[in-house]
Amino acid sequence: KPLLELTQLGMRYPVATGEFVALKDVNLTVNKGEFISLIGHSGCGKSTVLDLIAGLQMPTDGGVIVSNKEVAGPGPDRAVVFQHHALLPWLTVYQNVELALKQVAIHQKQKVSKTLLNQQVMHYLELVQMTHASDKKPDEISGGMKQRVGIARALAMQPNVLLMDEPFGALDALTRAHLQDALMAIQTELNNTIIMITHDVDEAVLLSDRIVMMSNGPAATIGQVLAVDLPR
Ligand code: ADP
Ligand code: ADP
Repeated sequence: KPLLELTQLGMRYPVATGEFVALKDVNLTVNKGEFISLIGHSGCGKSTVLDLIAGLQMPTDGGVIVSNKEVAGPGPDRAVVFQHHALLPWLTVYQNVELALKQVAIHQKQKVSKTLLNQQVMHYLELVQMTHASDKKPDEISGGMKQRVGIARALAMQPNVLLMDEPFGALDALTRAHLQDALMAIQTELNNTIIMITHDVDEAVLLSDRIVMMSNGPAATIGQVLAVDLPR
């Protein structure tokens, strides 16, 4: 059984002239441990697909199923990494990751000891090679480092699906290459289920198991999904 299923997914945004069809009849199934890259022209509906999976918006047609449950809103089982980090600026790197772990513990109604929490925070910071900057505030570290922390925080939620919207899009080429390496190493260790939006076809080929290309259909309505499997 696939981990994630998009079935006849559609999104019609209300606009002055009536409605704008952003997505129509999008069907996609993703298996556990698969890394999918979502590519396509600007405006073809990639972010909308990610939002609908994250539960940040509700579809007007069709539905999203994750782990046999219909998505009805946001939840820690679907962590999102955005292009521009969403770290809390008044917390340190350490505290940002710690907060995610505490939220998960509350959600699972578990009590976590300070020692275990510390081990977990350091484990996730280690995965992204950020232990050395654990006491820094977000505005004291570089853009690449902030994205690393954003990834650590998302991983700390131990999501069923990790959603990434152009996670490296705002970084320079060298930093992007470092982050791609880091993500590959993490995948080797954790084998997360990932859906990543990218403009960078090379990045998609490098990182993912399958590239899903969304194409603009007739009359600027969207949603035909073309999938390319990458040999490993
Ligand atoms: P992508 O991420 O591929 O660039 P989006 O999902 O952001 O595409 O947007 C898909 C289409 O839906 C675009 O044409 C965009 O202008 C439109 N759109 C997105 N959000 C809204 C909204 N809230 N209201 C109206 N139109 C929207
Ligand atoms: P990457 O994020 O891929 O490691 P960066 O260009 O972000 O590459 O940073 C390279 C290194 O420079 C970092 O690993 C860090 O040790 C150091 N560094 C960069 N900016 C800062 C900063 N504002 N504060 C402390 N160390 C920094």
